Amino acid sequence: MNVLGIDIGAGTIKSAVFSASGQTLVSAEAETARDYPALKAQLLAIMASLGKPHGVGAVGIGVPGFIAAGDGTIVRSPNMRFLDGIALQKELADATDLRVLVENDANAAALGEFLALAAPVPAPQGDGGNPVRPASFVHLTLGSGIGSGIILNGRIWRGAGGFAAELGHLLVNSQGRDCGCGNRGCAETESSEAGIVQSYQEFAGSPYPLRSRDVFDRLQRGDEAACRAFRRAGVFLGVLLAQIVYALNPELISIGGGVAACGDALLGPAREELARRVVARACAGTTIAPARLGNDAGKAGAAALARQETT
Ligand SMILES: [Zn+2]
Repeated sequence: MNVLGIDIGAGTIKSAVFSASGQTLVSAEAETARDYPALKAQLLAIMASLGKPHGVGAVGIGVPGFIAAGDGTIVRSPNMRFLDGIALQKELADATDLRVLVENDANAAALGEFLALAAPVPAPQGDGGNPVRPASFVHLTLGSGIGSGIILNGRIWRGAGGFAAELGHLLVNSQGRDCGCGNRGCAETESSEAGIVQSYQEFAGSPYPLRSRDVFDRLQRGDEAACRAFRRAGVFLGVLLAQIVYALNPELISIGGGVAACGDALLGPAREELARRVVARACAGTTIAPARLGNDAGKAGAAALARQETT
């Protein structure tokens, strides 16, 4: 059976049809509609145009926000408030003859990255040589916020009600900035794109630049404020990593997203801070590595989830 994966972002909807072996058969991208009726129509159009011609039996959809475990209702979507309270999974399933599964977008991306991992160790004898993936895996997406997902024994860890793995809202700075979640000092106020830009503006005493990429360009030109902004974000990322290591001691933490593409400017200070805060043997058991799929992880993970949980 082929499955359709859709990743809804505040700006772009990415979609693709995947075969049973995980091969991408067709993909599409479009600007996200700005209200719910238009978005629902857009999703139904994607399902009709990609679903029928490619023999799709199930659809997985990643949505930014808190998703109720079980029925896929969107409890709250901070960046797309028009989705608050929408029973998207039920509405789309009722309107089509497809099985539909709605999942938090960061959880879907984590599953996509997990499934893209090559075998870290040889498979045990006699199981056909399938890749052995880590039993415990954490994925962080450093973008405008910090998205995250936890995969334990091959499955998304959602917690009691679907609110687990909100690692971007772990406290890293008790005297820190206000966060959109209502708390303050969360990791995403420091180590996300918005955090880096805000730090740069504070250090440089300037309202510009507006993107972390601009700060990175200035870093490469030797700008001291840019260097301090990345160092600060990296140190607080290290604080976050220390909490993840002591909470889960996962075998692998993968880090992706636009900010992570800046590489060692961020990850260098993060690794140093992690080593300062956590005993060496705990760190030694956890590998920290760049993500593999990047922007394609969400739709791949959503599709895989639809296959896993609706068949
Ligand atoms: Zn927060």
